[in-house]
Amino acid sequence: MKDIVLLGSTGSIGTQALDVAKLHNINVTALSAGSNAELLISQAEEFSPKYVCIDDESKYRDLKSALSGKGMEILCGKEGLCAIAALPCDTVVNAIVGTAGFAPALSAVTSGNRLALANKESLVAGGEIITALVKEKGISLMPIDSEHSAIFQCLTGRGENKPKKLILTASGGPFRGYTSEMLKSVTKSQALKHPNWSMGAKITIDSATMMNKGLELIEAVWLFDVLPEQVEIVVHPQSILHSAVEFEDGSVIGQMGVPDMRIPIQLALTYPERCPSCAKPLSLFDVAMTFEKPDEKVFSCIGLARSALKKGGNMPCIMNKANEIAVGMFLRDKISFCEIPDKIAWALENVSFSKTVDYDIIVETEKETEEMLN
Ligand code: NDP
Repeated sequence: MKDIVLLGSTGSIGTQALDVAKLHNINVTALSAGSNAELLISQAEEFSPKYVCIDDESKYRDLKSALSGKGMEILCGKEGLCAIAALPCDTVVNAIVGTAGFAPALSAVTSGNRLALANKESLVAGGEIITALVKEKGISLMPIDSEHSAIFQCLTGRGENKPKKLILTASGGPFRGYTSEMLKSVTKSQALKHPNWSMGAKITIDSATMMNKGLELIEAVWLFDVLPEQVEIVVHPQSILHSAVEFEDGSVIGQMGVPDMRIPIQLALTYPERCPSCAKPLSLFDVAMTFEKPDEKVFSCIGLARSALKKGGNMPCIMNKANEIAVGMFLRDKISFCEIPDKIAWALENVSFSKTVDYDIIVETEKETEEMLN
């Protein structure tokens, strides 16, 4: 791996991807952020990329003047993000959060770039389009999500054997074991305290509602070409077994490790090579692994994702956008925790359904969902 374009460099995945780049002397051709110009500037000073892009156009001037004279080209907005995603490079790492990651993901694969994808939302909204392009262009789509990285690793070396079942593990989030009644009074600070992982705000709330597993179910269906019924969600509170695959002969192959995202990020960059990483080694003497069924009655987001996937068309796109909007409202104290699934269910009932999906339909669906929920 010689060079990467890193989208979303200021976030949780983005900063860890830079740790990996530093450890392995990988050049960073381009960096991007949403609006955190301050951190983006200091990253640009440290990694000297050729291109720096910020989505928030009001920060463009500050960014340009802070980095002037350093030989960097400064871009902004969605066009800027799509332009850097199309630059010639070994891998585009998409660590943008939410639906904003879709257009740059599409731009990366359209231009034939290998894509290391953390942004699960782009596969949920447009998995059909992205995976078809990946096939057509003959490029690799490397999952960064720890569960999907695990499944990818479990499937390596399977030859012609198809998996019987994917076992997608879930930590269960901070409210594992709660009743519906108990969920009614949970606070934002409780929801933002994930037991095992330190992540960005949106995915932390997605983990608390378990919509994260719903999104990952859809992501798995697109990445591994399996039926939704072949994906079993298993709560494993210790996050040591990152996921597993069951084969026809009854063998179950799993991937384990300490919960540290730098492991799957690094593998997405160095695969097929496995290099030393910054993560602590796993000691099986120090962990007791337990497994339980998710309570889909209490955590209704899993069922919403299953039904959106079953109906198909633009339903996963509606669900994805409605979830993003509802999580944003919860983080701004506009709605309660239990209203998040309510908003999603309402959007799935009321936003216009389209059986077919293309880029314009995704854009139109997201626009309509936003207008109807705001
Ligand atoms: P963060 O919120 O920490 O970071 C998100 C990044 O995206 C930041 O660089 C942010 O910039 C940028 N960004 C936000 N909005 C926009 C926008 N409109 N246009 C362009 N860039 C934008 O998120 P995470 O790193 O936690 O998550 C990133 C993705 O990875 C998500 O899809 C998540 O589900 C997935 N993921 C994350 C894991 C984790 O451990 N964090 C684990 C597995 C998957 P700024 O800082 O300026 O806001």
